Amino acid sequence: MRNCARVRLCRPDASGLMREMELLAQVVGSTRLIGIDWHFWKVVGWVGNVVFFSRFFVQWWATEKRKQVVVPNSFWWLSLIGSLCLLAYGLWRRDSVFIFAYAFTWIPYIRNLVISRRVARECPTCATCGTDAPPRACFCPQCGVKFAA
Ligand SMILES: [Zn+2]
Repeated sequence: MRNCARVRLCRPDASGLMREMELLAQVVGSTRLIGIDWHFWKVVGWVGNVVFFSRFFVQWWATEKRKQVVVPNSFWWLSLIGSLCLLAYGLWRRDSVFIFAYAFTWIPYIRNLVISRRVARECPTCATCGTDAPPRACFCPQCGVKFAA
């Protein structure tokens, strides 16, 4: 409840979406756990941290699995979701360092997802062995089966 009052007092000029989100934060309330005042925005920030950091393990696991450097789509999704949560938290805090750090990172994340989707559409998958072939391949690089035109 203490945080709700603080939010109201610190943000008298909040408008539009931010005011709606602060109202939601006031409805949810806050609680103190392990020495930290938890409230809606603190949870958003921590979820962003956990999601953004988890991409490291996802990329590491994919690389170890294929024994070559791999950046799976899930890495870009985790990057996008985590950075948007952290941007929202930075906007709530009105912290220019946070805002600038995450204001533009969504651009390469979305671009990489779009390119990956485009390449996946152009790459045939072998019906015989399940290998993903390079874009516009006529034969499976693994088993040599000819792809239908
Ligand atoms: Zn094949």
